[in-house]
Formats: sequence, structure tokens, C-alpha cells
Amino acid sequence: MKIPLVDLKANYLSIKTEIDSAIQRVIDNTAFIMGENVKNFEIHFANFSNAKHAIGCSSGTSALHLALMAAEVGPDDEVITVPNTFIATTECITHVGATVKFVDVDPQTLLIDIDKLEHAITPQTKAIIVVHLYGQMPDMERIREIGKKSDLTIIEDSAQAHAAEFKGHSPGYYGDIATFSFFPAKNLGCFGDGGAVVTNDDKLAERIRLLVDHGRTTKYEHKIEGYNYRLDALQAAILDAKLPHLEKWTHLRRQHAKFYKDNLPSEVRTPSETENYKYVYYMYVLRTDKRDDLMAFLKEKEVSCGIHYPIPLHLQPAYSYRAYKSGDFPVAEKAAKEILSIPIYPEMTQEQLRYIVDSITEFFSI
Ligand SMILES: *Cc1c(COP(=O)(O)O)cnc(C)c1O
Repeated sequence: MKIPLVDLKANYLSIKTEIDSAIQRVIDNTAFIMGENVKNFEIHFANFSNAKHAIGCSSGTSALHLALMAAEVGPDDEVITVPNTFIATTECITHVGATVKFVDVDPQTLLIDIDKLEHAITPQTKAIIVVHLYGQMPDMERIREIGKKSDLTIIEDSAQAHAAEFKGHSPGYYGDIATFSFFPAKNLGCFGDGGAVVTNDDKLAERIRLLVDHGRTTKYEHKIEGYNYRLDALQAAILDAKLPHLEKWTHLRRQHAKFYKDNLPSEVRTPSETENYKYVYYMYVLRTDKRDDLMAFLKEKEVSCGIHYPIPLHLQPAYSYRAYKSGDFPVAEKAAKEILSIPIYPEMTQEQLRYIVDSITEFFSI
């Protein structure tokens, strides 16, 4: 049975008429830049996030760049984050002139190790980018306390965590700013690139609104120099059509994860989910020291898998100038050799889930 890692076509077909008419409306109104579509989605996404402001932007990467600029992070500042994330998390730190400071992750969750975070803070530290990896949040109450004590801006990279919760609150509640990606494969994805920034802080929101669209206050009046980081109106219309379904899709992801947890053989380590932490399973990531063999076996069974991410950022060529070495962040490095993302998406059938579980069970029984 051929099973993809994600099935964007199945997702589209499940709400085809809604999406098609949303796209047609944008074309009929030739409302391609900003306007009602972007405004409506921003209102709905802010409501969904239980936040005061949501500002659409061009990608999860520009969302992070906007967040750092709005927080006035710049040269001489350090920003703490983790090495086991997508490079977008760290690129924008360098692009505002600041220095990336890595902290290793917790061996259980693979999220930032909060004890180590506390020790890594120096007078130069200006912000923390917390990555809600695979759709799970760390203890944000503790991180908020630590941030308050040292007057740090807390940015939640929530590109993988739409609808995730910690103690009933979603990204943007504990942090100063949460950033989202709507890359097609994300839990809420559009048909191209898109992103958003969510905040309860009026000042940060105002600055981000200026930065996202050339520093405009009116059509030809520019208060500051900004960027063209706008959310495309066509993408906003698509996102607005998809958003009402996100809760249901999240529920299905969580159901599939429960099936995996209950049925996968004990030889693989499955993600752990504890009370008060609502995991939304952007990825379902197993761990085993036989990762490469298991991956090859599943490939033969036509089950697509992935590794998120195979090379920790501190060992990437892009950061060779920082002269990190193997062993600097041992938990992240060990995890990179053991992790395997297996298919999880809302439209998966019981037969597909069963086939994957049976295939993994077969691998460990030969
Ligand atoms: C996808 C992703 C991004 C970047 O989002 P884009 O929309 O692709 O720019 C940033 N951080 C994390 C953790 C991601 O998964």
C-alpha cells in the first residue's frame, strides 16, 4: 500500500467546493493585495488564537523576522533557541544582526531544556525563540517566569503548532509574540507561502503592521522603511475557508496518534504526551537506534517517512563560522540519529494506519 507522508490532495478534495468558490471570489473581485480577504482572515485567526491581534504575512520565516524587528533585537544582542529546528528559526536572528545562542533540548520531549535555558541567559540575552516542535509546547509558564526575571522577549515559533495548547492556552498567550507558517504541509496550510504573527501587545502589533507593508500609514505615506512581507489575498481567502475545519482536523491527527501509541510495538519509542499539554502532531516522530534500517524497510513497503531534522543546526555548513563541534549539544545530536517521522494527516484511513503499524511490527519481528 502506497502511503505518502502528507496528502494535500485528499485535504483539498475534502472541502473542494468551499476552496474553489473562495478562490473564484477573489478573482471576481480582483482583490489581490490586502483588502477584505486579508482583514477577515486576520480577525478569524486572532479569534481562533484567543489573541488581540493577528497580522498576516508572507511566510513563517518573515513572521519570525518581523517578530525580532518589532522586539528591537539587533547587534550586540543574543537570542536563545534550540539546534533541532528548521533553519528559518535562526536565520532571522542573524539577519537582524544578533547572535544565535543554542541551548540543548530535553531528552524526553526534544523541546528546549528549561534548566539549561535558565543557565544560558547572560546580560546580552534579549530574546528567546521557543520552538513548538512537531506540535507540542513546553512548560510555557516556567519559560514566561524566566523571561520576566531577565526582561526577555519571548517569541513562540509556532509554525508546527496551530491549535496546540499548554494548560488550555494556545501559542501567543504566554509569549510576547507567536509566529505561524501556512506552508502547504503545515497543520493549517495555504496553496503557496503564507504566515502570521499573533500578539496581545498593541505596540508590537502596530510596529509589525508597519513593517509588513512598507511602513505605510496611508497609500503614499511611509512612517518608516518596511518590507513587502504581506500575506497574499488569494492565500488569505484559502486560509479563511480552511480555518473552520482546523479543530476537526486536529482532532483526527490526535486520534491517529492515539492509534499509533496503542498499537506500535514496544521496540520503538513513541512521543509522550502528558496532561495539560495538547499535542497537535504536525509530525508523528518515533525514535529507535535502528532508524536507518527501519526507514529503508518502510520505503520498500511504500510508506513515505521523513527525518525532522537530520543535521542539527550547529553542525550545518551555514554555521561553520561559529566553530561548533560534535558533542556540543549531545541530546539534539543523539536524537537526530534516532528520529523518524511516519505519516500522520487528518484524512488517513484505518487501513493505512493499520498497514503502517503492521509493517513496523514486521520489521522488529525479523
Ligand atoms: C516551517 C517552519 C518555519 C518556516 O516557515 P515558512 O512558512 O516555510 O517560511 C519556521 N520554523 C519552523 C519550526 C518551521 O517548521
